[in-house]
Amino acid sequence: MMSETISVQCCIAGGGPAGIMLGLLLARSGVSMLVLEKHADFLRDFCGDTLHPSTLEIMHELGVLERFLFLPHQKVTRINARFGDLEFTVADFSHLPTGCRYVAFMPQWDFLNFLVELGSQYPTFQIRMNAEVTNLIEDGSSVVGLCAETPSGPLEVRTPLVVGADDRHSTVRKRAGLSVKEFGAPNGCALVPVVKKG
Ligand SMILES: Cc1cc2nc3c(=O)[nH]c(=O)nc-3n(C[C@H](O)[C@H](O)[C@H](O)COP(=O)(O)OP(=O)(O)OC[C@H]3O[C@@H](n4cnc5c(N)ncnc54)[C@H](O)[C@@H]3O)c2cc1C
Repeated sequence: MMSETISVQCCIAGGGPAGIMLGLLLARSGVSMLVLEKHADFLRDFCGDTLHPSTLEIMHELGVLERFLFLPHQKVTRINARFGDLEFTVADFSHLPTGCRYVAFMPQWDFLNFLVELGSQYPTFQIRMNAEVTNLIEDGSSVVGLCAETPSGPLEVRTPLVVGADDRHSTVRKRAGLSVKEFGAPNGCALVPVVKKG
């Protein structure tokens, strides 16, 4: 199959929340960009469905919060837990100094589709689904692009800026020879209710 070559100012590997949001922000600023996402759509299990007040604040700052909240969602302002007869508040978002003092429950694919729809309003926004990044293109010691496999054949993207947002097993990171700094994380968390004596 013939290989296709395109040039953009920034190419982002991975169409998760990080890659799509970055693409949207760049396209808004007039930067020609391309997101390459290996899956055909955003319909995946295990990618979460809570949108936190800080994310909603960003949607507000982008001027799209009202439109965004037209999508079906549930608002949670407080989370309570019960152990036997003991009921207590685990989280209370109602005091946060933000516009939305709640967590919105919405499938991540709705969120990502919304961001792509927003991005598509800008002429410099491009996304290719079914495009799996396989390697970097190097010129001497510089990275000047990346290679991807698509259903219609190999794709070569020439760009001065490559961003690896292609998850924790990042191909971009591996091919760039970057090492991971482990901070360690506990295997689980324990909720310890504090009970007043007397
Ligand atoms: C079970 C679970 C539940 C979670 N629940 C929540 C929640 O409720 N709320 C919340 O805020 N966060 C939640 N998180 C965390 C949240 O999912 C992550 O913080 C977020 O997805 C990270 O975004 P990202 O864009 O960095 O990476 P990812 O979401 O991992 O996206 C990376 C993207 O890159 C693509 N990709 C990978 N390799 C390639 C390649 N070679 N070429 C092209 N594309 C590639 C992948 O297909 C993927 O779409 C949850 C995480 C898990 C595991």
